[in-house]
Amino acid sequence: ASWRYQPEPEILAGCNILVTGAGAGIGAAAAKCFACYGANVILLGRSRNHLESVFDWIETHTNTQPVIVPCDLEQLDASATHALHSAISETYGVLHGLLHNASRLGPKVPLAHYPIEEWLRVMQTNVNAPFILTHTLFDLLDAADDACVINTSSSVGRQGRAYWGAYAVSKFATEGFSQVLADETESAGRIRVYSVNPGGTRTAMRKAAYPLEDPASLPSPEQHMDLYLYLMAGRRSGKTLPDTGAQLDARTWKCQ
Ligand code: NDP
Repeated sequence: ASWRYQPEPEILAGCNILVTGAGAGIGAAAAKCFACYGANVILLGRSRNHLESVFDWIETHTNTQPVIVPCDLEQLDASATHALHSAISETYGVLHGLLHNASRLGPKVPLAHYPIEEWLRVMQTNVNAPFILTHTLFDLLDAADDACVINTSSSVGRQGRAYWGAYAVSKFATEGFSQVLADETESAGRIRVYSVNPGGTRTAMRKAAYPLEDPASLPSPEQHMDLYLYLMAGRRSGKTLPDTGAQLDARTWKCQ
């Protein structure tokens, strides 16, 4: 009830939205939220158990039919993404939303000591996988009259900070990816692209990054969902949307 945006209950009816990292944390909250507002959600994530619990929640609490795609983004290759493209294309025809949310934190150590293998894993998950997915699914997004791609950034993707290593660098790449994609799609006006920094949020990743912090001092993922919903609802909301390519911050965002 404290949401800055309170949409119509069926604002996402008929929308097909893919969420990566949908099994836990912010991705799980987003998938549930989109389904509550009528979207068909495609739940992509690593752990099947996590995905199944989100799937069960959505089946129980909404009238929508979610789909599970167990997939480790570190292993994402052309054949896996083409299979995903065919499945989405055959089932839904078009894609209205793509939330790139899954990320790997990696170790918090100085660059001089950063394990090279970890660097590559972080880049694969946080940078290469969102590109490969967007690249493969682009025609399905372009086929929707109003589609939305949300890239998930971080404060350390806007201002570098010691010991955040590959994670920080990957989030700068996320900002670059967002800006290039937004610039390329702006004139057609069918795909809106945003970079969202959720800010400190009560999840497993935050706990791993700040083990001594009191989780109760942080907002829950659910508290940010008004922004995610607002962006996904797009023109259906009838409200003024941020320009494509905008960098947004979930904590300070104001509903127009
Ligand atoms: P969580 O660790 O709670 O959840 C991340 C989800 O991504 C998990 O479901 C996880 O799968 C999935 N995932 C991770 N790696 C892979 C992979 N290789 N393949 C497929 N799925 C994967 O993270 P948050 O919810 O905290 O973070 C979500 C996003 O928000 C991230 O992009 C993060 O960088 C960003 N962010 C978070 C902040 C915070 O304070 N929480 C602050 C700023 C940014 P599994 O279920 O198997 O574990």
